[in-house]
Amino acid sequence: MRIAIASGKGGAGKTMLATNLAHYLSRQRPVTLLDCDVEEPNSALFFPGEYYDVRRVTRKYPEWNSDACTRCGLCGEVCAFHAVLPVAGEVVVFERLCHGCHACSELCPTQALPMAARGTGTIRQAQFNDLRVIEGRMDVGEEQAVPVIDAALGEAKAELVIIDAPPGTACTAQKVIETSDVTVLVTEPTPFGFHDLTLAVALVQKYGREPLVVLNRDGDPYGPLAQFLTGFEIVRIPDDRTLATLYADGRLAWEHVPALENALKNLAQRIFHEKT
Ligand code: SF4
Ligand code: SF4
Repeated sequence: MRIAIASGKGGAGKTMLATNLAHYLSRQRPVTLLDCDVEEPNSALFFPGEYYDVRRVTRKYPEWNSDACTRCGLCGEVCAFHAVLPVAGEVVVFERLCHGCHACSELCPTQALPMAARGTGTIRQAQFNDLRVIEGRMDVGEEQAVPVIDAALGEAKAELVIIDAPPGTACTAQKVIETSDVTVLVTEPTPFGFHDLTLAVALVQKYGREPLVVLNRDGDPYGPLAQFLTGFEIVRIPDDRTLATLYADGRLAWEHVPALENALKNLAQRIFHEKT
C-alpha cells in the first residue's frame, strides 16, 4: 500500500506530516518512508544515521560521433526540446535539456548519435528498527527529476510505503500520485494554500480518486478554503508553536504534541478505512 503525502504548494507541512506519520505507524508495523521530493529531499534530516548508497541513477543522452556525421542537420530538426544543435560544422548536445527520447539517435542516417548513459542522481537508504528511510536525490545542476523519482519508487517494495511527494502539480507530483493507492493533500488556511489545494484536488480526481485532506496550522479560518472543504472529510493539525519549533530543529514532534498524535491517529484510521 502506497500513501502519497502531497501538497499543491511547498511549505504547507508535507514533510512534517510524512516523517511523523511514518514514524508513528512504524510503532505498529514495518514502514518504508520514501522521499521522492528529489530536488530537495529533507526527510532524512529527521532520521539521522548511517545511510548507504543503493544505486546511482542514470539516464540516456546522445553522444556525437564527429567522424560518422555528415552534417546533414536532421537531428536539430527532430529534437522537440532543442537539446541538439547542429552549428558551424559541429553538433552540440545539451545533455541537461535532453529528454532521452532517442529520436535524434534513431533518425540519424549515419548512426552518429549513439545513446550513452550519464549519472543524474542517487538513491540511498537507512534502517531504523521497523522504519526504512529511502531517499532519492538529484545531482546538483540536473533539471529532470522524473528519472530519479522513478528509480526511488522502484526501490520501495515494502507492504506499507509513505511517500513524501514533490510539491505542486507538475509531472513530478503526478508520477507519485498516479502510482499511489491513497493521496493525502496537506494545505494551510491561506489564499495560497486554498488556490493550490484546488489544483491538487483536481489532479488527484483526474486519476479517479478522492484525496484525504489535512489542514495544517489550523487556527484562523480562511473563508474560501473552509467553504471549499465542505465536501471533504478533513483532518486538522492545530497551529502549535511547539510543533513548529521541533520541526525547525529537525525533530519529530508527534510524541511531544498530543494534538499531532491525535491527528495522525485520526488520519491513519481514515487511510486504512479507505482501503478496506
Ligand atoms: S542527423 Fe546525424 S549525420 Fe545529420 S547532423 Fe545530426 S549527427 Fe550528423
Ligand atoms: S534524445 Fe530526444 S530529447 Fe535528447 S537530444 Fe535527441 S531528440 Fe532531443
